[in-house]
Amino acid sequence: EIRVRNVWMEYGEQIVLESISLDIASGAFVSVVGPSGCGKSTFLRMILGQERPTRGVITLDGAALPDEPGPDRGVVFQRYSVFPHLNVLQNVLIAFEFAESPFTAKLFGAKRTAASERAKALLEAVGLSAHTRKYPSALSGGQQQRLAIAQALARKPKVLLLDEPFGALDPGTRAQMHALLKPLWRERGMTVIMVTHDLKEAFGLGTRLLAFDRPRIDPQAPERYGARIIYDLDLSRDGPVPV
Ligand code: ATP
Ligand code: MG
Repeated sequence: EIRVRNVWMEYGEQIVLESISLDIASGAFVSVVGPSGCGKSTFLRMILGQERPTRGVITLDGAALPDEPGPDRGVVFQRYSVFPHLNVLQNVLIAFEFAESPFTAKLFGAKRTAASERAKALLEAVGLSAHTRKYPSALSGGQQQRLAIAQALARKPKVLLLDEPFGALDPGTRAQMHALLKPLWRERGMTVIMVTHDLKEAFGLGTRLLAFDRPRIDPQAPERYGARIIYDLDLSRDGPVPV
């Protein structure tokens, strides 16, 4: 469970997020929407542990978030989540290696073989078995995002954070990615928090919908008020709407 209590994020004079409080149950699929610049990515970065709120507290399963992004949280961005100089298999392996040994990023012997098997199983799960030796530049946009998802899942995260993961994809590929993501989320019992500008996607995949926006604006000083959660909808009761 993620608990967010009276969290603020300020950059200098600018208040980005203002007094955000919510609980996210384990296993929820939370869709996050809101206008550009309202702080959605900032919110994800705080849960990832990349940024610390200027006020307030975030806990994951009762423990304060560590300062560093940990193996319990995986992340996929809109683009450029993968390493261009490593091939597909190596991209997934390095995620294990960072998890096992953040300083040397090296695995040996039996550990290496086990990691290799797990990496291949993950690549199979995201439909990339036929492309393990390719470099990211030789993959389509959808295939690159499949790889980014495999990489994010490598450490078996409790929480998967997705920041407009399919925003750069065409509608057909996007639909394929939805079909891929839904069972991965269900089977793994992960909590997913996904930022999207696509309402159909937000309603189609989410069990809960959060909308961020600034409820007040001071035209003389637009930085004075931050965004808050203006809608918090439970989508789970009647089941998610099919995409
Ligand atoms: P989009 O939908 O366009 O991705 P967003 O909701 O994700 O927007 P954020 O990227 O979270 O918005 O940014 C929220 C606000 O915080 C913006 O006004 C942005 O300029 C500001 N901001 C974000 N990161 C920083 C930073 N490191 N330093 C200063 N300001 C920042
Ligand atoms: Mg953003």
